[in-house]
Amino acid sequence: MSILRGLAATVTAAALLVTAGCGSGSRTPTLVPPSSTGSPAPGAASPSGPAAPPARPHVAGKGWTSDDLPVFHPAPAPERVIPAPKDGRVEYVLRVPTNQKVAFLTIDDGFLKHPEAPKLLAAAHVPVTLFLTTDAIRDDPGYFRPLIEAGAVVEAHTISHPQMRGMSYAAQKHQICGSADELGHWYTRRPVLFRPPFGEKDDTTLRAAKDCGMRAAFMWKETVDKGKVRYQGEHRVQPGDVILMHFRKAFVQDFLAALRAMHKAGLTPALLEDYVR
Ligand SMILES: [Zn+2]
Repeated sequence: MSILRGLAATVTAAALLVTAGCGSGSRTPTLVPPSSTGSPAPGAASPSGPAAPPARPHVAGKGWTSDDLPVFHPAPAPERVIPAPKDGRVEYVLRVPTNQKVAFLTIDDGFLKHPEAPKLLAAAHVPVTLFLTTDAIRDDPGYFRPLIEAGAVVEAHTISHPQMRGMSYAAQKHQICGSADELGHWYTRRPVLFRPPFGEKDDTTLRAAKDCGMRAAFMWKETVDKGKVRYQGEHRVQPGDVILMHFRKAFVQDFLAALRAMHKAGLTPALLEDYVR
């Protein structure tokens, strides 16, 4: 049964690859990042109606298939609305101040390295920001490289995940600069965004973040856990909302729930970094 299904999936994937006609040989899945006008794929032309969603190969993982992944509207050209640091401190962003139909998915910490995450992220082809704690990932920094190849961007979330509020300037600076330096060393790009653990910060945090080269710090609106989205106030993701999930056992369910919540709200995932001045 499963062999037959697997075979069928392979045949479907092969057929889609042929009809999509992308001869690049790229390992990247074919859910093409939406281009501005979305010209239809050869053979899939629809005369005048709205552009058909781009074809993508069928991918199956443990507990999910690409059929579970929503197909989003193309993302608009980003507007850089998050202010640059001023008065010696970074902005603490509760919600990205945009009316564009976009939301932002962030995934934190990195303690549990779920085996499905790299494949799922690659199949979904959506931008995500990973706020990683260096002590959580020190045992296997290599795990996150396929995620980065699939489009994730790594940002700073301290060395040891302390409660920052009330800590000395030196201690906070060590946590932020130290994690950014280490992540830069592992992944060749030094982070420019910061999230304080538990969303707890004080004025010192925002000054230390600026002095460590960060351009903004982030809170969140919705959280996702055990496959359920928790809303604050509104029962729908709003434009500009930042959604928080973690590298946990329910990674697959959480990731799918986050994407479905965005899709249900008519929003498209966008990259946080693209909205910072
Ligand atoms: Zn955290």
